[in-house]
Amino acid sequence: MSIQYNKFEIRIRLSAIRSNYRLLKNSGSRVIGVIKADAYGHGLCEVAGALAQEGCDTFAIGSVEEGAALRRHLRQAGINARIMSLLGPVDPEDYAPLWEHEIIPFIGSFRQLETVAGQAARLGRALPVSIKFDTGMARLGFVETDLPRLLDRLHEAPLVRPVMASSHLATADDPSAMDFVMEQGRRFEIMVTALRQAGYQVEANLANTAGILAHQKLHHQSQRGGIALYGASPFAGTAWEHLGKGLVPAMEARTKIVSVHPLKKGHTISYGGTYTAQRDMTVAIVAAGYADAYSRGLSGRGAQMLIGGRRVPQVGRVCMQLCAADVTDVPDVRPGDWATLLGGSGALAITADELAGWWGTISYEVFCLLGMNRRIYI
Ligand SMILES: *Cc1c(COP(=O)(O)O)cnc(C)c1O
Repeated sequence: MSIQYNKFEIRIRLSAIRSNYRLLKNSGSRVIGVIKADAYGHGLCEVAGALAQEGCDTFAIGSVEEGAALRRHLRQAGINARIMSLLGPVDPEDYAPLWEHEIIPFIGSFRQLETVAGQAARLGRALPVSIKFDTGMARLGFVETDLPRLLDRLHEAPLVRPVMASSHLATADDPSAMDFVMEQGRRFEIMVTALRQAGYQVEANLANTAGILAHQKLHHQSQRGGIALYGASPFAGTAWEHLGKGLVPAMEARTKIVSVHPLKKGHTISYGGTYTAQRDMTVAIVAAGYADAYSRGLSGRGAQMLIGGRRVPQVGRVCMQLCAADVTDVPDVRPGDWATLLGGSGALAITADELAGWWGTISYEVFCLLGMNRRIYI
């Protein structure tokens, strides 16, 4: 997905992603690079290439289609890696590509299991899969009471090869929710043990970034790291903020200033006249709006941007392709200058978590949405 024909420039620093991967790998065991949703808006193929250079040998993507796109790229680039699909097959046409593109699907329902088994029998070809367990997220996966039937069905379908077992933590980013995290860990142990006792030597993985950084006890043979790769911490703003130390943001968003002009005291600006100048001001009109995924929800929320090396407040409603900033105190601002909405250098840099705070969301969504704009790699 991409937004075109705007003035936005998303700059991605692949060296930051590589450095963040190395930091996660210090946890000891294998780190699966989670690059679903176009690598959280950072670019599926570019990020996969960068991670492969750091020795990442397994990628987690969303849909089977995204996996197929990644496989085509990896083959062209001569990169040999495992690809797992976190969504798994949804439609009938999602099954054949699992074999064709060597994608290890999450299999979390009997419906998926039966379809994979049928197709494997017809093709006469085995398929490695990851058995997905629901240990508390209540989204996708087999639950504990499914185990007897699951083991029966696997026994009857020898071409379905469970090589992994996976589950996903729901509250690992919340230091006050340790009990729930540990309970998920306990349930996962039970289910993995049952699989192993039935003879399936699965590579187990449970931890996401928060689990990798905070819960050594929940590390299994591999971990699935996402948000940290992009330089944001799931613990930002919590008592465990220090666990994200050393992560380097990889995404920067900037756009052009279109106009600079005075706004007299008492006058309002933008739709609805929601902002009234309290003094004679100078405003910069910036080429950023909700059509560029710079949300209208940022209006009147105290959002800031960087102009002329200073932090300035955004004022008035965010429009479709424009918004305004108060540049009264910034000398020499001119049309054609840059306004930085995310990132920037030094202590003034706007972090994804800060922007997410004004926006009323989390860094993950900031990356996914802003990442839909044109990207350049620096
Ligand atoms: C997105 C996702 C992850 C990665 O989570 P982060 O918090 O970004 O590390 C891991 N596992 C599954 C199943 C996911 O969907």
